[in-house]
Amino acid sequence: MSIRGFPLLGKLEPGTSQRHLVKLPGNALAGDEPRAVITVTGAKSGPTLFVNGGLHGAEYPAIEAVIRLGKVLDPATISGTVILMPVLNLPAFRNRTPFVCPIDSVNPNRVFPGDSNGSYSEQMVHALMHEFISHADAYIDLHGGDIPEDLVPFVISRAGDGAVDQKSKEMAMAFGLPYVLTVSKPVQVAKGLSSYAGAAENGVPAILAEGGGVGQLQEDAVEMLVNGVVRVMKQLGMMAADGGANAEHRTSNAERRITEPKVLTAFEWVYSKHAGMWYSRVKAGDVLKKGQEIGTVGDLFGDTLETVIAPVTGTVLFLTINPSVQANGLLMGIGVE
Ligand SMILES: [Zn+2]
Repeated sequence: MSIRGFPLLGKLEPGTSQRHLVKLPGNALAGDEPRAVITVTGAKSGPTLFVNGGLHGAEYPAIEAVIRLGKVLDPATISGTVILMPVLNLPAFRNRTPFVCPIDSVNPNRVFPGDSNGSYSEQMVHALMHEFISHADAYIDLHGGDIPEDLVPFVISRAGDGAVDQKSKEMAMAFGLPYVLTVSKPVQVAKGLSSYAGAAENGVPAILAEGGGVGQLQEDAVEMLVNGVVRVMKQLGMMAADGGANAEHRTSNAERRITEPKVLTAFEWVYSKHAGMWYSRVKAGDVLKKGQEIGTVGDLFGDTLETVIAPVTGTVLFLTINPSVQANGLLMGIGVE
């Protein structure tokens, strides 16, 4: 069987799972540890799905979900190929660094499609894009709240009427988390795009799914993310609709979340003005009304520097739970219907 692209993986044998240690190209990455990659090549042909965790190296349920998929997916029951990379951003994983790569302090999820002559993170993303994502028929990027972040599980895809965006939204709906967010523009001004938008821009249907957070390894979040990938595989025709019982973890928690997701169409991020102590009045998952007081920022004498007001009506999808905030520090993201 010839799987198009993926020259770094060598020959993939139908009906087998294979382990690879892959050196990513790019002169900034020359001294790097190789990345662990697991390929699950179905006995029957079908689409190629690429899944990674660890674009942010301290989002542990996402990383564990990719590791676990490599152990539970059975090539005998799969049509097509699943390519799994548990951790892209290894420097952040090794150093427990949130949000960015410690080598260049760049958030890799803001520089897609990357740059082969850019900084470390830009070269790393360029390698991911050109060696993996662009050769796949579909792409899933797994995330969660980072070390200072709590969140409710949600999936993001790029909004649009084109075929790639519609396929992406179908994947997002199939994943089975409580919220699906389709967004038409980047949520932060940055050099590049986020993973799902960068992939869609290159013609590859893609989603970003978030589960768990606060630097911990929540088992229910791992199961949600594993089950979500399996559901997308069924939707893509890579697995029989009633198959994969061994792969799908049937726990009460995970089962409860297989409901029609609530679709949100805008993502409003809230920032502090001042540096100081952040006292949130709300939790992840709370529904807010525009104008509602959602917290305060105080100084180290205990005086209030600012009162934070909800700029929109919507649902708190992620929340900074560590009290220390910088000036213009990110406090929360609100999903809007
Ligand atoms: Zn992330």
